[in-house]
Amino acid sequence: MEPKIQSTSWNPEIIEKAILKKWEENDIYHFTVDDGSKPAFVIDTPPPYPSGRPWHIGAAAHYAQIDMIARVARMNGKNVLFPIGIDRNGLPVEIYTEKKYKVRMRQMDRQKFLDLCKVALDDLEAEMIQIMKRMGLSGNFKEYYRTDSDEYRALTQATFIELWKRGLVYLANRPNNYCPDCGTTIADAEIVYNEIPTKLVYMKFKVRGKEKDEGEKNNKNNDGAAIIVASTRPELLFACQAVIVNPEDDRYKHLLGSRAILPLFDREVSIVPHHSAKPEFGSGAVMVCSYGDQNDVQLFRELGLKEIVALNENGFTTEVAGQKYAGLRVNQARTKIIEDLKNAGLMEKEESITHRTPLCERSKTPIEIIPLHDYYVKQIEFVPQLKELAFKLKFHPEIHRQILLKWLDSINIDWPVSRRRFYGTEIPIWYCNACKAPNLPPSDGKYYRPWKDKPPFEKCEKCGSFDSGFTGEDRTFDTWMDSSISPLYVTKFGKGNNNNNKIFDYTYPTAIRPQAKDIIRTWLHYTMLRCVQLTDKIPWREAWIMGYGVDEKGEKMSKSKGNVIDPFPVIQKYGADTFRFWSASEANLGYDFRCSEQKIAGAQKFLSKLWNIGRFLSSFEVIDERQAPQRLEPSDRWILAELDRLVKECKRGYDEYNFFIPANAIRDFTWHLFAAHYIEMVKGRAYTTINNNNNDDDDDDNNKNEEYDGRRSALYTLHRCFSTILSLIAPIIPFIVEELWTKMYSSEFTFHRQAIFREEQTLEKVQEDVEMTKYTKALIDFNSMVWNKKKETISKETGKPLSLKDPIHIPVPPELDQFGQDLRSMHNLTTR
Ligand SMILES: [Zn+2]
Ligand SMILES: [Zn+2]
Repeated sequence: MEPKIQSTSWNPEIIEKAILKKWEENDIYHFTVDDGSKPAFVIDTPPPYPSGRPWHIGAAAHYAQIDMIARVARMNGKNVLFPIGIDRNGLPVEIYTEKKYKVRMRQMDRQKFLDLCKVALDDLEAEMIQIMKRMGLSGNFKEYYRTDSDEYRALTQATFIELWKRGLVYLANRPNNYCPDCGTTIADAEIVYNEIPTKLVYMKFKVRGKEKDEGEKNNKNNDGAAIIVASTRPELLFACQAVIVNPEDDRYKHLLGSRAILPLFDREVSIVPHHSAKPEFGSGAVMVCSYGDQNDVQLFRELGLKEIVALNENGFTTEVAGQKYAGLRVNQARTKIIEDLKNAGLMEKEESITHRTPLCERSKTPIEIIPLHDYYVKQIEFVPQLKELAFKLKFHPEIHRQILLKWLDSINIDWPVSRRRFYGTEIPIWYCNACKAPNLPPSDGKYYRPWKDKPPFEKCEKCGSFDSGFTGEDRTFDTWMDSSISPLYVTKFGKGNNNNNKIFDYTYPTAIRPQAKDIIRTWLHYTMLRCVQLTDKIPWREAWIMGYGVDEKGEKMSKSKGNVIDPFPVIQKYGADTFRFWSASEANLGYDFRCSEQKIAGAQKFLSKLWNIGRFLSSFEVIDERQAPQRLEPSDRWILAELDRLVKECKRGYDEYNFFIPANAIRDFTWHLFAAHYIEMVKGRAYTTINNNNNDDDDDDNNKNEEYDGRRSALYTLHRCFSTILSLIAPIIPFIVEELWTKMYSSEFTFHRQAIFREEQTLEKVQEDVEMTKYTKALIDFNSMVWNKKKETISKETGKPLSLKDPIHIPVPPELDQFGQDLRSMHNLTTR
């Protein structure tokens, strides 16, 4: 029989593109609520940031695996909603636009800047969508969403207004993290810490003795004495309000209660005992400024110190610094103050140290802490509830639950959500010009832009003023305010009648949140917080956490290191399936994985092998379940027992969404057992032609039937193994499976929705045969021994080593007796 598969090699460039086109034209991944008889399976897909090329290869691998989650669920009979969104809000977009068009956001018209952002985003987005499609993502591309659409932003605003009504939002003036580069408040969750080299400066503070009426035993007059204060932030000297020393530190006990005089600024502050001063750090005496770090914030509160505003919102020193030092950048002020201290003989020494410095996660700038008016969403009071829910959420892998719990434990401030940026969802507030009270629009699903739109009301709610007018808020939300409602957006929260939202009821809570490890404390936490506030329910049943893609040496990929791999050319060159198979076989769930083009190229070998096996088998007719012989030969029962083991192993992997397990198990089985041993063992039977009877035995009907059954048993088993392999691996490499499946077994697209673990794969008779796997090692050893022996044996006729087809005299060991016929035929073993 002619093979049904003609092409001698798998050609992804042509075939994958043709298949993509078919999938798209037939809209086979369409989600409809009409399929409501099946359970819904909604993936809360992370909408990627289009922040500039190249898109990280690790990110592309991440999305390929999310697609595997979707395909597994679909094959398991679920009604899958796999939304595709693009996160277009926020800072990376603004920075990219400023760079691309060589403009400065704050120096141009806001609307014009927003328009430029949109154009830049459209280009980046088109590229990302193209890559996602080319990878074969079975997502809902038809209805892909953008977080900067009017509809999305309206939902962000409506949910904020809802929280406001319920008293979960408040305005406060507090010392807050501020990035001078980004020009905005940032949340604790957006801070990273880095060891950075800096100078520890030892400054001489003169000391003035205690007041006379405080008379105590050790009240010596300390006038004229000095205390050395060590600080990494001498530029904040003028904002110092106290000097602390450890109460156990004998060096300073006599100074407690005295006053220290700030060098250069000549102002007196108290010397106070406090445990946070470490005797072993610097001189053991520390200045407390508003605000050098979070510890200062704590100390100001604890000691009741009066805040001095040292820096303004542009990161410049304020007039409190005095004429000489006001209006400077932090670094300029630092240089100048150090210089003046030196000249005045007030600096004892400088020491080089590395200091754990808080940096803005996005711009990597050291953050400042300055008092700012910001809106806060309450989170502290939700922590106990969130912790309880964190235990109800199933984590893949389980170990990453700890990251969330640790973060929840560390929360000690509510979430500041206002940002001084342009490209984001506007805070929907107008302030009354008469009484300054904030007025909010109704949460009616409209999108509001207070910096340019008229308010949708005329009268102030607070003072009742009709004609004073309003001033629109010009700030935007932290972009996590938008991304934290993704599960609500994709399930159509707030749409339809209040109590009759069929889609929402059917799809929420969603099935799974796939995401990266580094945004657990932001995206995962904020989403839980917001959804619990709004729906009182945890938004997903499971969370799937993927590690980072690192380079081949295990280092993080970054543009500055030049080790980022652009996924698109790689996918073009090797095909989507190769890329997907590499991603599955390389990335063990939750762990970091190495990316290299060489490894991706290596993954292609398995696809070629699979193709070749398919091509070979396609020349034999398919014997299906109904035509299966009553009795199977021992070799066939053996491989089916191994197949059963494989199915169980794959099920274990797929149940955990750990594609590393099925990818490697299927490769090993297919290549090293099925092809290397089993196919070779049964080739003889498979090729038997019934009519051409050339054996030595009597030509009786009985024998004919036996042979015929032996052949049928082989063909049935070959196809059953191969079709099972295809259906098991379909979620990982859908293109090649579509092609082989369609040509060999069934019509187009059928495998997408067929059961991944079919009933017959765990038939009882296989269960009974499970013990057959005990022969696996002996079979492999015997076959290898024969192959080696032939290699080592020089033929008397040719003078060369025996070929695999040459006869050789080796007896089959008694323990493999039942496989004797197949083994003798496979190796051409002679009995004498
Ligand atoms: Zn920044
Ligand atoms: Zn008013």
